[in-house]
Amino acid sequence: MNTQGKISPIREAVERPSELISVVIPVYNEAGNLRALWSRLKPVLESLDRAWEVVFVDDGSSDQSLAILREFSAQADGRVRVVELARNFGQHSAILAGFRQSRGAIVVTLDADLQNPPEEIPRLIEAIDAGNDVVGGWREERHDHPYRRIASRMHNRLTSAIVGVPMHDYGCMLRAYRRHIVDTVVECDEKAAFVPALANSFAKRVAEIPVSHAERAAGESKYNLLRLATLSLNLITGFSLVPIQALSLVGLGIFLLDALFAAILFAHRIIYGPQQEGAVWTLFAVLFLFVGFIFLALGLIGEYVGRIYIEVRRRPTYIVRAVHGASDGDPHA
Ligand code: UDP
Ligand code: MG
Repeated sequence: MNTQGKISPIREAVERPSELISVVIPVYNEAGNLRALWSRLKPVLESLDRAWEVVFVDDGSSDQSLAILREFSAQADGRVRVVELARNFGQHSAILAGFRQSRGAIVVTLDADLQNPPEEIPRLIEAIDAGNDVVGGWREERHDHPYRRIASRMHNRLTSAIVGVPMHDYGCMLRAYRRHIVDTVVECDEKAAFVPALANSFAKRVAEIPVSHAERAAGESKYNLLRLATLSLNLITGFSLVPIQALSLVGLGIFLLDALFAAILFAHRIIYGPQQEGAVWTLFAVLFLFVGFIFLALGLIGEYVGRIYIEVRRRPTYIVRAVHGASDGDPHA
């Protein structure tokens, strides 16, 4: 069973018209924002001169959100779909559910709380048309609590380092993706996905454009410190084996220090002869030898666990977008 190296379904032109723009919006208890959102989003999409669709994902809202979304969909002759999740699964899972339902050649994600102005969408699409696979919004002036801004700066540095694609703002959900990136992200089917990071790891060209950012129009942020910390931890463990590999390094460090310690003990014994408290120190040296050994063993087990993790994760090792040449047509025609 090999899921690697699949040709992405970008060429399914019939099912996925090349000009279609999809907008995916995760919604969790946003009843107070949805009407304002829709009244701003719709004119923007109509001004695009392209076919569009909007996929709202109701992430288990307990307020009127779902009813309002269904109203939009009833009035939009098939251009608005509402995916109703069975309960609250979190923003990124909701986006994945929306990705799966979307059919556009370009997929834009947007928050429902009007912190991301829908008016920026045409600029994102322009940047994709210019040849980028992923375009991220960059909230140069953020309107969030200061602690969020500090946490977010650390988060962006960390994400840039472990994904290997530097970006100022991984947290901004006003983003646009080409179809093959969306398909690959969906295909990964990860349980704790952080969509922007995963998408960037499959992109050839990424761009970042400054976008404006507003305060939440109504309601409250769904993220508290604990949820943010969980997101960061998911990200670190989702993209890197460094924490587990660090165990071997700790083991090696303890071994080396212990060797130095034993050498000093030995030299001491040679120079000053046997001492009464010498046995205690020797015991320490032996003890640290074992501690070092245990850490090394843990690190080694970690290496195997890490390999198993990479295998079960089933992220594609490469993505073929097209094969040019020989099979493109009949060479004798
Ligand atoms: N959201 C969601 N499920 C959740 C949490 C959030 O679908 O469990 C949606 C939310 O309705 C909003 C977007 O994700 O459209 C961003 O959430 P929020 O504004 O609370 O995050 P913040 O802007 O504070 O980072
Ligand atoms: Mg918000």
